[in-house]
Amino acid sequence: MAFDFQGQLNALQQQHRYRRRRVVDSACGVRLRDASGEYLSFNSNDYLGLANHPEVIAAMQAGAARWGVGSGASHLISGHSSAHHALEEELAAFCGRPRALLFSTGYMANMGVIAALCGRGDHVLEDRLNHASLLDGGLLSQARIQRYRHNDADDLAAKLAKCSGNTLVVSDGVFSMDGDLANLPALSQTARAHNALLMIDDAHGFGVLGQHGGGCVEHFGLTGDDVPILVGTLGKAFGTFGAFVAGSEELIELLINRARPYIYTTALPPAVAEATRASLKLVQTESWRRDKLQSLITQFRRGAQQLGLNLMDSPTPIQPLIIGDDASALKLSEQLQTAGILISAIRPPTVPAGTARLRITFSSDHSEQDVARLLNTLETLV
Ligand SMILES: *Cc1c(COP(=O)(O)O)cnc(C)c1O
Repeated sequence: MAFDFQGQLNALQQQHRYRRRRVVDSACGVRLRDASGEYLSFNSNDYLGLANHPEVIAAMQAGAARWGVGSGASHLISGHSSAHHALEEELAAFCGRPRALLFSTGYMANMGVIAALCGRGDHVLEDRLNHASLLDGGLLSQARIQRYRHNDADDLAAKLAKCSGNTLVVSDGVFSMDGDLANLPALSQTARAHNALLMIDDAHGFGVLGQHGGGCVEHFGLTGDDVPILVGTLGKAFGTFGAFVAGSEELIELLINRARPYIYTTALPPAVAEATRASLKLVQTESWRRDKLQSLITQFRRGAQQLGLNLMDSPTPIQPLIIGDDASALKLSEQLQTAGILISAIRPPTVPAGTARLRITFSSDHSEQDVARLLNTLETLV
């Protein structure tokens, strides 16, 4: 039968790859409630606990009162408000770059940048573990895509040596499923040596890494010359919604004119831009959130090492426990849920086959007791 929806679903079920949504009844936070009960959650990317911060909520409420709910049009027609514009200027200043451009989501920002800059005959080089949106951006561009070995600047250099013409090197800043950092100094040096342009997607580093929350670029002490195209998302550490690209004046003007996922979509609600302006202030003023997060990460890694758990080389709030096969990862996730702890099992195709894992993420809203409870529970189950 053509398509055979049910057949495809049955196959997913048999492979332990069927995915289901949880219907959540509580606001974003480390305590999560659904119809089955209340849980301690280590699932969200709200690393700094800003999604439910009173000042961010108040800014969104005031923004809705001033601007209404919808923006009513795309940025190029009449949807670009002074709230969006102010946020772009504040983000550019925060990143130390001439301009920033808001996108409705990080997924769209990545698709938009890669496909606006590259086309048939150009080259896009991607880390093997790049986020799906970066890979999809490459496909949309119709450029020639090559994937280099994870975080391997030598493999990248070997591939770059065989490329001529426009070449874009693309990497996650913090790898979303492993938590490790891209080796930015080496990537930037290699790209520069081969006349290629470097684009970094710092979805998980922005707000979290660096003394001021400037992300992986600040963490490594680099500048806009080293990483000419920087993508940041606002739905993770910033606790709101949307994304931005930061870079040169010419880059941003070209994106405004060429990036289809920018041009052909409704602008974010201005109230969301107002909420993000409030959270950008908190990212800068409440540095204790980053310190607290780091101390929870250290506590977890020490405890997990004592238990002999198999940790990855991650200095970030993403701390995956690799289980291996899909069924075992699912089973452990279910056992944790029975013990009152939510951690989703991440399975292929999100991660490579044979590396199904529990992706544990921490927030500055977790307490030391929460981390101790997680460690105690893992001790009984693993
Ligand atoms: C989450 C994520 C995105 C997508 O951002 P959204 O704003 O959620 O669409 C892009 N890149 C990486 C690495 C991510 O983890």
